[in-house]
Amino acid sequence: MVHKTVCPYCGVGCGLSVEVSGGHVTRVRGDESHPGSRGMVCRKAVYLPPSLIAPDRALRPQFRPDRSAPFRPTSWDAAMRWAAAGMRRIVDEHGPDAAAFYISGQLLTEDYYVVNKLAKGFIGTNNVDSNSRLCMASAVSAYKMALGQDGPPCTYEDLDLADCFLFIGSNAADCHPVLFKRALKRKESDPAGVTLIAVDPRRTATAKDSDLYLQVRPGGDLALLYGMLHVLIRDGLTDDAFVAAHTVGWDALRDAARDWTPAVAAAQCGIPPEQIERAASAFGRAKRSLSLWSMGLNQTTSGVDKSLMVIALHLATGKIGKPGCGPFSLTGQPNAMGGREVGGLAALLPGHRAVDNPQHRAEMARHWRVPADQMCPRPGLTAIETFEAAAEGRVKAIWVAATNPAVSLPDLKLVREGLLRAELVVVQDAYFPTETTDLAHLALPAAQWSEKEGTATTSERRIAYLPAVGARPGVARPDWQIFAELANRMGYSEGFNYRTAQEVFDDYRACTIGTDMDIGGLSYERLRSEGPTQWPCPAGSSGGTARLYTNGRFATADGRARFFAPQIRPTADRASSAAPFSLTTGREPDQWHTMTRTGKILQLLRSCPEPYLALNPTDAARLGVVEREWLEIEAPGRGAVRLRARVTADVPEGTLFAPFHWGAHWHDGGPLNAVTTRAWDPVSKQPELKLAAVALRKCPGPGGKRSIAQRSEHVAAPPPSTLPEDAPAADDTPTIMPTRSPVHA
Ligand code: SF4
Repeated sequence: MVHKTVCPYCGVGCGLSVEVSGGHVTRVRGDESHPGSRGMVCRKAVYLPPSLIAPDRALRPQFRPDRSAPFRPTSWDAAMRWAAAGMRRIVDEHGPDAAAFYISGQLLTEDYYVVNKLAKGFIGTNNVDSNSRLCMASAVSAYKMALGQDGPPCTYEDLDLADCFLFIGSNAADCHPVLFKRALKRKESDPAGVTLIAVDPRRTATAKDSDLYLQVRPGGDLALLYGMLHVLIRDGLTDDAFVAAHTVGWDALRDAARDWTPAVAAAQCGIPPEQIERAASAFGRAKRSLSLWSMGLNQTTSGVDKSLMVIALHLATGKIGKPGCGPFSLTGQPNAMGGREVGGLAALLPGHRAVDNPQHRAEMARHWRVPADQMCPRPGLTAIETFEAAAEGRVKAIWVAATNPAVSLPDLKLVREGLLRAELVVVQDAYFPTETTDLAHLALPAAQWSEKEGTATTSERRIAYLPAVGARPGVARPDWQIFAELANRMGYSEGFNYRTAQEVFDDYRACTIGTDMDIGGLSYERLRSEGPTQWPCPAGSSGGTARLYTNGRFATADGRARFFAPQIRPTADRASSAAPFSLTTGREPDQWHTMTRTGKILQLLRSCPEPYLALNPTDAARLGVVEREWLEIEAPGRGAVRLRARVTADVPEGTLFAPFHWGAHWHDGGPLNAVTTRAWDPVSKQPELKLAAVALRKCPGPGGKRSIAQRSEHVAAPPPSTLPEDAPAADDTPTIMPTRSPVHA
């Protein structure tokens, strides 16, 4: 049998054709009929089948009342009885805000909806935050502030139409490879007429394939954007009629940009003035300009300001709401967009509602049939705040779903302290053990991609239906069912008697009617028959909405977009004599998050079998460091990590880069986030994972057990009958993307 679904890895959401035999997914290919990806996929998707049968799939609940004791298998009944009684006691004794849920952009919308309904509607706490906080919270805040609502205004088709691409803080070639491939195709179609610009401190794969690479100093993006805006104004490249008709606040921003000559901007961002001129000119003179950004801007203490300035470039030039134009933030997680829509962050309610808006609370209270005063009017704890509160004893119960914060959050000492101090820690995940279940009382086996049905939204606002096509391992359950059972056992059975995921979706869909993301016209049946659809899609509409703001009317009360004139603030960490290097973090193209899925696939490990620390040859020569030598980086007061050196001119002098994927289960030198800072953007509360000041020294190896490829207990050997040994042959899977070379190659 062949089924259509979408990829569970990144926010591109590529369409997949999945072959199933004997209840198991045996093969994955690109779905050529999918409107977003048109048959293209990257290697991670192709190697999904072995990740489903990995030896460490969670098969049954595991419990230990004392975390110094080993886990023992238990039944669902015993596990949920203990968990619900514990949550009930903590909420009754300490109040609703003593409980917190830390969830994930890996969850499907139905999973998100049920846990939000339980926490925000019934328990009465808004302490529900997602690892999407680490991904795109800054972009969310900026869209709402500037355009009046959350949601990228663009569509993937704009990649086929743009004349100028500004990739800023986005290594799309590695992190959103199918979209980058589409941009390259556009370039190939008109080499002289299309310009690709990449802005990044590191010469990434994206930078290498771009026409103009701007090697920005870490933290210098806002100065660059001001410099570009200065040139656009100076050279008459703004669209004054659009600005006058559709925006508010231009005069203040124009005045703020007056002093940002390319020379002034260059002094702050480290990019030569002539390159700033070239970038601004390409952006402003192109008929259609598209900006794409992700963690490089979002994961900083000025992430909202930077996102606002990207949006401002488009508003100032009128390049928004038109084909090939717009500010397009790319989500990292497969359903980070769905999480935003369904209220998966601590300040949100479903349907783009806000917890601090009395009317929104009243609407959701009616929908959920709960007293309005049962719902908390204050935003809940965000990701870092949750673990701070736990470390201080204010949060006593933490329920983690589909994520691994003991590796992925910054300042991991805090995460560990928080989890260890909490009285009740439950982790539901498709894999066991993880670094986070190591700190839990109860680990629950969750069904994952292909084993549960539901919906997810891609970066272009396209909602897809994902069918359950394969058998669940052991007694694993869909996440929404686990949350619904918790609700029922806590005494809220009246709101959670769903029998199917479709009933959950229908409940959610109904509450979006009349909102800016109305999906009243969608149903499982329609998504199955018509395929993935872009919101809004109200009842009676045919098809979805490709672009927002096509009529120049924005989602603010007066219909006008807003300019802001942000001040440049210093980064949280600054290089000093004690910590003279700036560490920036990121991803490898063939790994995903904390490796719980991709870490088991030998073919994916080959491109980067172990973590590394990239440093410039000049720094290496000064310190006498040679390739693969062990180095220790230390962030004073936070922690230290040991990694092997990778000497490469791709990082500038004084800057270091390392991928974050490897946790304690995979690497003896320590997880990278031991040294990153928990400092966050004051508006979005997204932490600054892109810049940590660290000391660097040579050191002996950690003396540990192994390289990752030797961890046979965690490495799944893919069945040869279902997977090729290496990259599949071209005639077998013609749409496979080439693997990018490691940074030093
Ligand atoms: Fe999956 Fe790769 Fe497509 Fe992302 S680009 S959705 S990881 S196939």
